[in-house]
Order: sequence, then structure tokens, then C-alpha cells
Amino acid sequence: MAEIKKYFLESFLPSIQSTTTNVDISDLYDESAKWTPVPLTYSNKFESVMNLSAVIIKNLCKLFRATKKVPRLAFDVIAHIVNDSTDQPDILLRQILLCHVTKRQADAGYFVYIVTSIEDLKLKRVPLQDELEWVALAHKVIKHAQINHKINECLTDLGQSITEVTEFEKKDQIKITLVESGLKILRGFVGLEELFIHTDHFRQKINDFKGSLEQLQLVSKMDIISIAIHEYAHLKIRQSNGDFNMHSPVVGHLHGLPVIPHEFGTFTERKIFGKQIDWFASYRAMDYEFVERFVHSVENGGPLPPSYIESSGVVPRLGDPYVDGADIEVNNYIC
Ligand SMILES: [Zn+2]
Repeated sequence: MAEIKKYFLESFLPSIQSTTTNVDISDLYDESAKWTPVPLTYSNKFESVMNLSAVIIKNLCKLFRATKKVPRLAFDVIAHIVNDSTDQPDILLRQILLCHVTKRQADAGYFVYIVTSIEDLKLKRVPLQDELEWVALAHKVIKHAQINHKINECLTDLGQSITEVTEFEKKDQIKITLVESGLKILRGFVGLEELFIHTDHFRQKINDFKGSLEQLQLVSKMDIISIAIHEYAHLKIRQSNGDFNMHSPVVGHLHGLPVIPHEFGTFTERKIFGKQIDWFASYRAMDYEFVERFVHSVENGGPLPPSYIESSGVVPRLGDPYVDGADIEVNNYIC
């Protein structure tokens, strides 16, 4: 894979014209056709991190295979991030998110908006007290036996093996990491043995919340539980599949399921809650008894309440069904 990056940096980048609004990637695309895709395995995390940049380039070629023209604003950001060292934690974060985003079928404007926002993504180095509590709660989600069982049911629905993940569940090394960026619509995303929670997204929702303090505490816990379930599901299907670069809608499709609802994080939230619910927007109408019992069961490791019975005013989240591995809301995106 190293030769892909070498070609990109040493041959392709110097050859492109700097004045056009789109970068013609025809030569890069032709070259990429010669390269064998390499999975980003969990068994060799070091090698997978080294290969992230090459996978991003390969994904980009595939994504723009029809036009072979990549908007320059996005291309420049990608080139910059790919060229930087993953020894810097913030660069590693950006490469991981780009790996997800370069798999998405997107219109040019949306792609530029998302990619250019990734340039300021970084670790949250001084978390607030409640953000540290989110991390503790997310850890409880990934250790919860029944939640693991529910996700495993989803793996089976998509034809994936659950034997590969049983040992993985016992590991204590799955990290929950807080990040910050200007991309407020990003809830979180998944890395190698790591879940990322985007603090600015939740901070904005907390700041805008109009209900009572008690309601806020409950919905914010529920929203953190939901993102932890969502991203942990992504992590488990990648572990099962053996490839961090997998695309779960495609995997679902290969097993006879329609493509769109089977972004695996969304699929799992629907399995557990009936639909992807925007808990912050649902505080007026949600079933408080269910929510309180659900939060309590996660906090204490007890049995989950029976499946959520949707009350009339609950508000679904408009998650992006195409960005696999990252959770991006599209309802408040303006371009
Ligand atoms: Zn997702």
C-alpha cells in the first residue's frame, strides 16, 4: 500500500494544476486500478494506521469514479491530511474520519462542507466534568451484556459471524475518546478499538435545551447511550468482518437487505429503540418510564426494559444512512 501514497505524493500531486475548481483525478484513478485493496485489520492495528492514508486515496478514487473530478477545496484538505503524520493524534483522528467520509456517495457541496470541517477536528484535551461522565456512561454501554446481545443479533441479521467478537467483548481496552470540531452535526465516529464522541455536538444541544434540568439530565444521558450503542455496533461489525474499511450498507445488501436502512449503527438503534430517536427533541413526548428504566439499567448493568413502545410525539433523528462508521445528522445541515 505504501506505493499508493508514494505515487500520490511524488507523482500525482506535483502534476495537478492549481487553478481549477475541480481536480482531475483521471491519472490517479487509472493508477489506483492497479492497486490491490488491503483491509485495515484489527489484528495488526499498527499496520492499519500506517495504511489509512492509502485507503483514503483509494476510497476517494472509487467515490469519484463517475466524474473523476474532485472539488478542489475538499481535495486540498484531503491531500494535506494524508500527507501529515499519524504520530500526531489529531491527524490520526482526521484520517479515521476521512476514511469513513470518503465512502459516502455525496453531492459535491455536501462533500466539501464535511471534508473542510474535518481540518479542525481535534482531541478534547481538557474535558468538562459532565463530559467525563459521558465517557464513564459509554464504557457501561459497551460492557452491558444485553446490549452486546442485541448488537450480536444485528450482526446475525447482516450475515456476520459473532464468534469473532466474543473475545473482543471481554477486552477492557476499547477506548472512549472525546473530540471537538466545528462540524456540529457530527455526533461521533468509530476508530480502531476506539469510539469517538463529539463534545461540541452534545454541548450545543445542551445549550439549546428548553426543558427542565431533570429532563436535560435524562435526555443527555439517553443521547450519549444512543451514540455509544451506535458506534460500538460499528466497531463490532468491523471486528467481525475483519476490516475497518468495511461498508455496512453494502454488507447488508449482499445479504439481501435493502441498502439504505442498513447502515449498521442506525440498524442497531432501530433494533433497540424501534427507530433512531432524537432524544433531545423528544423530551416533551417521550415515555419517561421507559427512558428512566433504560438509563438505570445501563448505569447498573441490569436487564433492559422491554422494547421501546413509541409514543406519539417522539422525534426521529435524520441520521445520514450513507456515512458508515460516522454518525452525521443531515436535518440541520445547510449548504
Ligand atoms: Zn453510523
